[in-house]
Amino acid sequence: MAEEIDVVVVGAGQAGLATSHELTARGVEHVVLEATTPGSSWLGRWDSFTLVGPNHTVTLPGAHYRGDDLGGFMARTEIADHLQRYAGRLGAEVRPGTPVHRLTPLGDAADGGDGGYLLDTDDGTIRSRVAVIATGAYQQPLKPAVLVGLSPDIAVVDVATYRNPAGLPEGAVLVVGSGQSACQIAEELALAGRDVVMACGRAPWFYRRLEDRDLFDWLIAAEFYEQGPDQLASPAARHGANVQASGARGGHDLHYRTLAALGVRLTGHLAGVAGRTAYLEPDLAQTIAAGDAGFRLVSGAVAQACAREGRPVPEIPPPTVLVTDAPTELDLHGFGAVVVACGFRSRYTEWIDVPGLVDAQGFPLHDDGESTVAPGLHFVGVHFLRRRRSSLLFGVGDDATATATRIASAV
Ligand SMILES: Cc1cc2nc3c(=O)[nH]c(=O)nc-3n(C[C@H](O)[C@H](O)[C@H](O)COP(=O)(O)OP(=O)(O)OC[C@H]3O[C@@H](n4cnc5c(N)ncnc54)[C@H](O)[C@@H]3O)c2cc1C
Repeated sequence: MAEEIDVVVVGAGQAGLATSHELTARGVEHVVLEATTPGSSWLGRWDSFTLVGPNHTVTLPGAHYRGDDLGGFMARTEIADHLQRYAGRLGAEVRPGTPVHRLTPLGDAADGGDGGYLLDTDDGTIRSRVAVIATGAYQQPLKPAVLVGLSPDIAVVDVATYRNPAGLPEGAVLVVGSGQSACQIAEELALAGRDVVMACGRAPWFYRRLEDRDLFDWLIAAEFYEQGPDQLASPAARHGANVQASGARGGHDLHYRTLAALGVRLTGHLAGVAGRTAYLEPDLAQTIAAGDAGFRLVSGAVAQACAREGRPVPEIPPPTVLVTDAPTELDLHGFGAVVVACGFRSRYTEWIDVPGLVDAQGFPLHDDGESTVAPGLHFVGVHFLRRRRSSLLFGVGDDATATATRIASAV
């Protein structure tokens, strides 16, 4: 016999916890089901991981950052602790160690059902009228098909399994990708004395600080994170890389040029691999040019922020010249590992049994966070759900409020 719970939140990361907080604030009883422990996604990131956004951007409802290092960047364990304490203060029951293996719609009256969902867990089946899916914006690292053919003697590690330089087999390392994660991992490998080659993807970059402000504060002031999905060049642009930067060691510049200065060898995109030979596109110059176009975009945002605030635009040092000669073939003898950091994709369809749930990019089809094909099924924490900041620590709270309000008004 199924347990009846009117409203269920699946996932106790920042998105699920914020939703729970906001549901309670509106008097909506519910239960939060969490596969492992609250905030555990952050613990799964590499050892030296820190936030890229400054601590003051942690503005979850009822869980703002209250420490004395507003401009600093919490380590992964500190963020997880922050979320675990948040979970402990919530008015609702949070059930850790309760993965939802399958979510099935019961069908509406037309199908002979009376709506709602069945959620299969290890502790039995739950029947709910409303389910909020808050299982993460970054669910599974993308694995490039071009790696098929790599010699099995070379370890392949992705962003979810990489821990630290000592954890990789000895030898040089090929890092595939050049978003924030790829840059941070390549930097720490280079600092640990590894020979690092980076097969670069496209990513914008900017300085960590300009005058009195952090990069994030400039972008927030320019309302960059308010951008909705319809303001992007294409639906696929939602997968575009974030601005390259690091919060490690108090925060610092980290981009193609700082990596090159550390001895990281930059190359074009990875085109294919055969045994111990990697084939690389001759497109490094275009990649750097695309990064610099992103730099100019952020420079424009800084100017926009200044215009809004009536302050003079600071002097922005232009990009320095970067040599873009790169090999198109790389001999992988002497390489111990390939680190794949090419972004993430969703895995909703692996366990939610609703045809047509997501679009071609894997994002849920929704109206104000509620599925357009499965009424009563809500999503929170999806990248670009409403805005660019929808999945971030300073954006998910507003989405949680909107979704809780929508659910409360339908009760
Ligand atoms: C490398 C990296 C760096 C980031 N840095 C920042 C940053 O500096 N600032 C920022 O604001 N954002 C950052 N983000 C983005 C975002 O804040 C994080 O991805 C954050 O973890 C998303 O929170 P979430 O609650 O949506 O998902 P998660 O934190 O992934 O939480 C989802 C929870 O759902 C649980 N779950 C999943 N499936 C099930 C299931 N079937 N049943 C039950 N439970 C389930 C998981 O165990 C997990 O606890 C970063 C993301 C990445 C990948």
